[in-house]
Amino acid sequence: MSKKATKYIFVTGGVTSSLGKGIVSSSLGMLLKSRGYNVTIQKLDPYINIDPGTLNPYEHGECYVTEDGAETDLDLGHYERFLNSATSQNNNVTTGRIYQTVIDKERKGDFLGKTVQVIPHITNEIKRRIKILAKENYDIIITEIGGTVGDIESLPYIESVRQLRWELGENNSMVIHLTLLPYLASSGELKTKPSQHSVRQLMEYGVQANVLVCRTEHKIPKDQRAKLAQFCNVNQANVIECMDLPTIYEVPLELHKQNFDEVVLRELALPIEQAPDLKDWKDFLKKYKNPKKHVEIALVGKYVSLQDSYKSIAEAFIHAGAASHTDVKVRWIYSGDLENGDMASLLAGVDGMLIAPGFGDRGIEGKIQAAQYAREHKIPVLGICLGMQIMTIEFARNVLGLNKAHSTEFDTHSPYPVINIMEEQKNVIDKGGTMRLGAWKCVLEPGTKLFDIYNNQNISERHRHRYEFNSDFIADFEGNEFIPSGKNPDTGLVEALELQNHPFYVGVQYHPEYKSTVANPHPLFKAFIDAAVKFQTKK
Ligand code: GLN
Repeated sequence: MSKKATKYIFVTGGVTSSLGKGIVSSSLGMLLKSRGYNVTIQKLDPYINIDPGTLNPYEHGECYVTEDGAETDLDLGHYERFLNSATSQNNNVTTGRIYQTVIDKERKGDFLGKTVQVIPHITNEIKRRIKILAKENYDIIITEIGGTVGDIESLPYIESVRQLRWELGENNSMVIHLTLLPYLASSGELKTKPSQHSVRQLMEYGVQANVLVCRTEHKIPKDQRAKLAQFCNVNQANVIECMDLPTIYEVPLELHKQNFDEVVLRELALPIEQAPDLKDWKDFLKKYKNPKKHVEIALVGKYVSLQDSYKSIAEAFIHAGAASHTDVKVRWIYSGDLENGDMASLLAGVDGMLIAPGFGDRGIEGKIQAAQYAREHKIPVLGICLGMQIMTIEFARNVLGLNKAHSTEFDTHSPYPVINIMEEQKNVIDKGGTMRLGAWKCVLEPGTKLFDIYNNQNISERHRHRYEFNSDFIADFEGNEFIPSGKNPDTGLVEALELQNHPFYVGVQYHPEYKSTVANPHPLFKAFIDAAVKFQTKK
């Protein structure tokens, strides 16, 4: 595609939150990419935290980590999984970061004595953050505005969209408004009034929506569609229905059936000749929906009552499961329930165990006991980050006989700190953005399971943690067949461990789940699922 001006798509939400702007944006991005356009997706979050790194997962779901080490909203995970391309710090901006930048400039005296105000200073900074991605040569930038139209805190974002649309000129930008059509069972009707009001509210701010994507539990009758179009000032073809579907991965195909991608390209005056290539996506869906095998994996974690806390792991299971023609059912187990609980009945029938990442000591002993049970019963285990640390502690205590071995995160006086804090982390006081974050290299040891799984010696994976395997104990572990599968080539830090006399007992200090996409299921998840299938067959 010849280098033309970047086009901008803004996605706003109306009526209620949680309508799935992230999935609609990801689906659109995927459709446009499959037509040959170079697309990226960005999320603007109207909260004051600098990033979600310091948020409890119960507040906001999983914290997703990018290659460049940004701690971001979980929607970026969807963007990467649908588009199969990496995002960065520039793809997620919060109000906190916007204000921080403006206030830092003010302190430096950059505003030359002027009064610093929401308009123009905050809106200028928002616009700069949107346009910054254009430097990376994208044909289309999709910007998702968090929150719901009418919220006080999203006002500066909507005003920035208004200004940008005016600056960019006709056909260079558009607004997609995601809205809800509530269904009144008593009268058997879908109601359009809340959507009309939210579109009108947008217009009060000077922004006209070009396309309506309507979340609905029922098909939109023709007359309702006509009414929506007329009262919201859009073409009838620009009213897109978005019904509830069994899987988010069907959304792009459903939207495509209604010419969503074509409607969008017309609004942006972009060529539509190249039909989208959706073959691989359809193949994936076919495999996902017609599994030949079924396994159940216990996910042992602390935040299991909000499954969004482990979003990327759950999605990685779907990608890897489809690749192995296997339906992966997750049994969510709160680690606190395992603490001196009836392990055999809580884990009865599972074919594998994933020990989840996490922070803080609640439920830790339950995780340690689960690791021991799985190790002794030869149940396949994948431990991620804290999960790997748990496997290390359990092994130290129960195999190496190092009584009270622990991570210094949980016991600063442990006589055997098999997991401890790195020297450079010791004096870090700030909690935000200070962990070992983002992509780090790892060199795998030939002859290990991991080496075979990746089929590569040099890998790179994303990290988010403060504590590390304590190499002082390495010889003890190696001598008992719990061996490092890979190390960081620069620091020598142990990035993964595997048990030799076990069918699959692998702990990784990094987060493989962040790199799993529909197009590229993660090899480690795939190997883990295959091990679970094998375990089941043996049973
Ligand atoms: N709490 C552990 C650490 O900081 C593990 C973090 C994680 O699982 N992401 O090292």
